[in-house]
Amino acid sequence: MNYNSQKLVVCLHELYDTPEIHYILEQVLSGFLELKYEIFFSKEANDDIILLKREDKFIQIDFSFFKNYIREDGIKGKILPSTPLGKLSVGTKLNILHKYDIPILFGEPVLHISIDSILIGIDVFGSAFFMLTRLEEIYKSGRDEHDRFSLKSSILSEENLVEYPIVDIYVDLLGKAILKLWPDKMISSKPGRLLVSCDVDFLYEYNLRGLKVLKRLARNILLDRSLYKFIETLKRSFAINILGNLKYDSYNSYDYLMRSCEKEKVDLAFYFIARNKKEKIDGNYDISSPDVLRLIQRIFKRGHEIGLHGSYYSYDNFFELEQEKQLLVNVLEKSGLSQDVLKGGRQHYLRWNNETSLIWDKNGLIYDSTLGFAEHVGFRCGTSKEYNFFDVINRKQLNIVIRPLICMEVSLLDKKYMNLDHKHAFPIASNLKKRCLDYGGNFTLLWHNSSFNHKEDYELFEKIIKNEGKR
Ligand SMILES: [Zn+2]
Repeated sequence: MNYNSQKLVVCLHELYDTPEIHYILEQVLSGFLELKYEIFFSKEANDDIILLKREDKFIQIDFSFFKNYIREDGIKGKILPSTPLGKLSVGTKLNILHKYDIPILFGEPVLHISIDSILIGIDVFGSAFFMLTRLEEIYKSGRDEHDRFSLKSSILSEENLVEYPIVDIYVDLLGKAILKLWPDKMISSKPGRLLVSCDVDFLYEYNLRGLKVLKRLARNILLDRSLYKFIETLKRSFAINILGNLKYDSYNSYDYLMRSCEKEKVDLAFYFIARNKKEKIDGNYDISSPDVLRLIQRIFKRGHEIGLHGSYYSYDNFFELEQEKQLLVNVLEKSGLSQDVLKGGRQHYLRWNNETSLIWDKNGLIYDSTLGFAEHVGFRCGTSKEYNFFDVINRKQLNIVIRPLICMEVSLLDKKYMNLDHKHAFPIASNLKKRCLDYGGNFTLLWHNSSFNHKEDYELFEKIIKNEGKR
């Protein structure tokens, strides 16, 4: 059998010879499933479906999303799933990972399996395109005071889907269908990874000085009614301010983070804000200060990553982000590091819109890990896997890789967000981690250096990153 006959052939109506379709086929078939394929467009093909064939067997998949989205001169208006969503019951027919009925963003609850063909009613490609490009964020209003698209406005909230990687579930279904017809096909079996990152908003606590010490002392007595806390505050402010001993600074958790991640053999990255005209909202340090320089050298020496934390106002401002990137590069070079060590990072406050990906891309950054909801942990993009971004406005695939953010400690614990106690936060984080690893994606955990204030914080962090040998 020659090499070519092993390839899948994808058959589509010629109407679909567009950048959107080439992108999503490549992302799903080549990026996620690691399959080789060839595309055939023809006038005769049925425009309701996409056909995957090899030899005399084939899979037909619903293609209703693109039928409505694409027209000859470009793109149609709003295409949103109609709710309530239908559900597909797969049972044990294909041995998929998801053990419940599958909600259908686009398509019909149909699945027929015969010896030489499979019909999948779910529009796998259209739904993946809809989720990965964050199309609903362009169509829908519903942004919060930081101009962040909120979960409340998303189909994921309406249908309670945010804790399930819906795209990974669809891609798993397609992969299992391919294996059913062509058992010799090799589809991706990449192991999942746990990636920890720390946004450095505040370098050190620096707040046990002057009036702030007095305020804290008053709070310890009047509010906390704790002589123990009062003495602790006195001791810590003396050690930090008089002796210059940063060991007592509660934001100084860098060594702890590195030690913990090294112990579990987990990747760790620190993202730094590099704005020179600093607004209060951008934290409390100057990227070019000797303190930062020393810290960056220490982090790098221990083999961890340094990345960019785009400032509050840079998320839609190319020149601002360009300057910040340059400031960080200057510090890296001053530390004796090459600018190539800078790969990516995340926007402060998780501020993001389509423009953000464009400016990260234009600035030559390799990946961005901003895309998660602040108010809730889970799968904003429907996937735990990295993928190339497609700019729906300019109809163009970008080089920037989206590394979805799955779990931020602030989302779990903060009163404004999920407001969980540590005991209830753990099973939620743990389930998300399991789903990411099962599907061969990344469980990306964001934990700020300034978020280790209680014994419970350390315990929760350590439990979440525990390596259970599933990597
Ligand atoms: Zn931040």
